[in-house]
Amino acid sequence: METVDVFKNGPEVSLEQVLDNREWRSAKQTKLENDFPRATIVAVKLNLPGNVKNSAKIQQFFNAGWRILLASLNGWPIQSIELDISRPTGPEGFVVVSKDINSVKQVAIRFEESFPLGRFFDSDVMAKEAEGYQLSRQELGFEARRCFVCDENAKACAKAGRHSFDELRQAVNHTYEQYFVQDPFLPYWDERSVVEAATFACLAEVVTNPKPGLVDPVSMGAHDDMDVDTFIDSSLALQPYFKECITAGRTFKKGQLTELLALIRPAGLAAEQAMKVATNGVNTHKGAIFTLGILIAAYGYCTQDQKSTTLSFVQKAVSAMGAHLLLENEKVADRSSQELTAGQVQYQKYRLAGVRGEVYEGLVPLSDVALPALRKSEGTTNERLLDTLMAIAAAITDSTLVKRAGDPAINREMIAWVAEFQKLGGAQTSAGMTFLSRLDQTFISRHLSIGGAADYLILTAFIARLMGLI
Ligand SMILES: [Zn+2]
Repeated sequence: METVDVFKNGPEVSLEQVLDNREWRSAKQTKLENDFPRATIVAVKLNLPGNVKNSAKIQQFFNAGWRILLASLNGWPIQSIELDISRPTGPEGFVVVSKDINSVKQVAIRFEESFPLGRFFDSDVMAKEAEGYQLSRQELGFEARRCFVCDENAKACAKAGRHSFDELRQAVNHTYEQYFVQDPFLPYWDERSVVEAATFACLAEVVTNPKPGLVDPVSMGAHDDMDVDTFIDSSLALQPYFKECITAGRTFKKGQLTELLALIRPAGLAAEQAMKVATNGVNTHKGAIFTLGILIAAYGYCTQDQKSTTLSFVQKAVSAMGAHLLLENEKVADRSSQELTAGQVQYQKYRLAGVRGEVYEGLVPLSDVALPALRKSEGTTNERLLDTLMAIAAAITDSTLVKRAGDPAINREMIAWVAEFQKLGGAQTSAGMTFLSRLDQTFISRHLSIGGAADYLILTAFIARLMGLI
């Protein structure tokens, strides 16, 4: 089991820096109060033990909570948002909302109480015109804040110095593990946010570059009929489909989840049509229409009645939805190859179950490879997605790659390329990036493409978006 150290590689700050930062925050709040005298201000920061207040993982931690808190304030007019995620003294965010202080405070407290990472957040709520009239947690119907180590009254614990520094740090690491590592936590998001996350995932995949053999903003890769604009058009054309999938999942009431798949299949066919119309007949997202649609519907099913869920529950639902898919592969196994899809031809040829098999098994590489790779990767979103794409490419049997190469032995070559890329330090090093550019050229000259890995990158970016990991 991987040991997590949230504080690793973070810069240490001095007491003086912390005190200076306190003054900076206080000045910032005063300015916001003066600029927005009738509004309410929420100042958000993390409350972490020790001298390390920022790191890649601390930023993940903050970002996940920040996005949830913003979403829960989103029903009211938002006047201003400021975020400083890389501040050495810890990430800080300020949001100004036109709503009375006690309603906003209620949202902030509920966030601290119910969101799994909320205990480590301080969300101070203030308003110039409400000074002196702020209701306490108890008056708003909440208990006093509890300690994140022992669950007793937090103030009393801090005052008595009841916990060692190690205990406090372990509590932070343990919470990170539970949320991000053991079984990724997926909060409830409204339908609009889910559609946005799916669209984001499609667009994030295509703008990531340089990807071996795939379309990106500077290259058509080993494809001669599509470029980045084709993918943008296609991604936008799929939005009504994403909406249908999340609605189907959220409203599905029957017992057998195979029926949920049957329910979204006509929408999937319509989405293929919409894709073709948007791209003048080019197949940009056929694989993603299938897998992402199923993943969205499964997430919707697991988050009915505004419940949060975890990735393993969603994967179980995916698998249950696809329970009959391998039978379909068997049925087509004796048809002539002209009527068959690439995946079906391969199933005949190499007995690879393809994307249907992946769904049947619950999209296992998502939890086993892709999300851990994304979580561990650092740097820009582009660098993180490249590291993730390469980790995926080494772990899956990519039916597009096998089809293009005409030989499943290509998988061994792919594994060796990925190992070399990782040995060079991945996308965060210039050697790693140079290697990827050369590999892109190799792929173009050999007419290879990792379309299957690209589809998995879309699924990964979608789930990561829901988690707040990206
Ligand atoms: Zn305690």
